Amino acid sequence: MSETYKRKTVAIIVVGMAGSGKTSFIQRFNSASHAKKMRTYILNIDPATTKIPYVPNIDIRDTVNFKKVMKDYRLGPNGAILTAANLFATRFDQVISLCERRRNEIDFIVVDTPGQIEIFTWSASGTIITEAIASRFETFLFYILDTSRSNNNPQVFVSNILQAISVLYKSRVRLILLLNKVDITNSKQIRTWLSDFEKFQAAFDKVSNSASELGRSIGLVVEEFHAKLSLIDISCLTGEGFEDVFHFLTK
Ligand code: GDP
Ligand code: MG
Repeated sequence: MSETYKRKTVAIIVVGMAGSGKTSFIQRFNSASHAKKMRTYILNIDPATTKIPYVPNIDIRDTVNFKKVMKDYRLGPNGAILTAANLFATRFDQVISLCERRRNEIDFIVVDTPGQIEIFTWSASGTIITEAIASRFETFLFYILDTSRSNNNPQVFVSNILQAISVLYKSRVRLILLLNKVDITNSKQIRTWLSDFEKFQAAFDKVSNSASELGRSIGLVVEEFHAKLSLIDISCLTGEGFEDVFHFLTK
């Protein structure tokens, strides 16, 4: 049988700082895709999450018990999340087979990652999972940035951007920056800082501490990063911007 697929399945790995809106994004994306008669297959790989506002198709919590990992390996919460993710990664080939079998039925595979970004981006499990998905499916990393927290705060903005750059640098997957929570603050200032080196530097002139010098020199890096970047404004609360997300994914 020839391998002609009815649908092209696109995978999206959702990353971002704790509280940026990863889980909310997936909830909104899932319902928006249903409204468009497209099917989203959700993988939750956050072992420590207690309540999620969607029903995942595959859930790390069905495979590894985070509390038991804490007890068995005598670990604190962060160590246990990391270990649970690593244990799950050793069986990720089974997850990939499940996704492959569904390829004709699903439009999107969406991956929810642990609250603490570095557990996914700086661990063997994150690399294994990202590479396994990206080798089978067209894959994007969606970096969710909390616009309301970065607005008027160049230091928070820079920390976020450096984190996004390190994600981009480590994986070969295309990164899209989603400026979330635009219902609280618009993204005008963030977009200006990203695109205009001088305005970015000027923002740091107002910061009078040891970080300001360093922040200013990062400006050129930010400008270079921006040149390679796709940016989309969204609000997971109101649904604003999701049309743009689908347009981007299906163009
Ligand atoms: P995660 O830790 O990245 O998974 O973040 P969550 O999805 O759990 O969201 C963290 C908090 O931000 C929750 O209280 C959400 O209700 C809130 N939140 C997420 N997206 C938005 C948004 O677009 N606008 C507003 N106002 N709040 C949001
Ligand atoms: Mg979450």
